[in-house]
Amino acid sequence: MPEMPEVETVRRGLIEQVLNKRITHVEIRYQNLITGDVDEFIETVTGAVISNIGRRAKFLLIELDNGYTIISHLRMEGKYRVSADQNAIDKHSHAIFTLDDGQMLIYNDVRKFGRMQLWPTDKLSENKSLKKLGPEPLAADFTFENIKPRIMRHRKDIKTVLLDQSVMGGLGNIYVDEVLWQAKIHPETKADHLTDEEIKDIIKCSNSEIDMAIKSGGSTIRTYLDANGHKGNMQDRLKVYGKEGEPCPRCGTEIVKIKVGGRGTHFCPKCQVAK
Ligand SMILES: [Zn+2]
Repeated sequence: MPEMPEVETVRRGLIEQVLNKRITHVEIRYQNLITGDVDEFIETVTGAVISNIGRRAKFLLIELDNGYTIISHLRMEGKYRVSADQNAIDKHSHAIFTLDDGQMLIYNDVRKFGRMQLWPTDKLSENKSLKKLGPEPLAADFTFENIKPRIMRHRKDIKTVLLDQSVMGGLGNIYVDEVLWQAKIHPETKADHLTDEEIKDIIKCSNSEIDMAIKSGGSTIRTYLDANGHKGNMQDRLKVYGKEGEPCPRCGTEIVKIKVGGRGTHFCPKCQVAK
């Protein structure tokens, strides 16, 4: 699944390629891609200029000059590609936005889980999906004062709590494992048992982890490509995720994999001691 850094990489790629381009034609080949009325979506988007590409957690916000924004969630396998070549369109291309420079913005999705929704730009904060998101790493409101109460009201395992997008926006399975390893916290530690120092470490490590991931263009777990077709190199930098049986980069102990809240979880049993 593309995580937040991957979505940020896609955002930056799209800014370079489609900003200020007018959408002259829209084709939706998979009707369920659109949340809401498909004809209304096509009618509203056609003729509009892409005036900005924003992001909130894992949601891409394709802002149009007519007061509407396309809220795009890539879910498992969604990808954007920009091309003038008709051969770039295949059976997994579910939305094709033709641009006034002759290029096409093509949305591909093998698993068909991704969704797009049109929403008034000045009412984005009222959108159900966006409204429930907690503060996200690197944002101004991602502070100890804001995050501590969101974590402490849960009695579940910290791994599960950090995956809850209403606690912190944007961290998925890969980066939660990495953050907990960096912070030396066992993934099954109960959230309400964390000390202030540990919560500060989680915040600090989330910021550094996401910052590094964005700088290296996201991970390449599965078939992820950014909007330019470049592969990210974050996978080489992961310390514990997918490293079961390999030595911990800090102490050499074998990384183990367990299930926490139904999710595959990687950690070092020596560095991350259960309380
Ligand atoms: Zn270790």
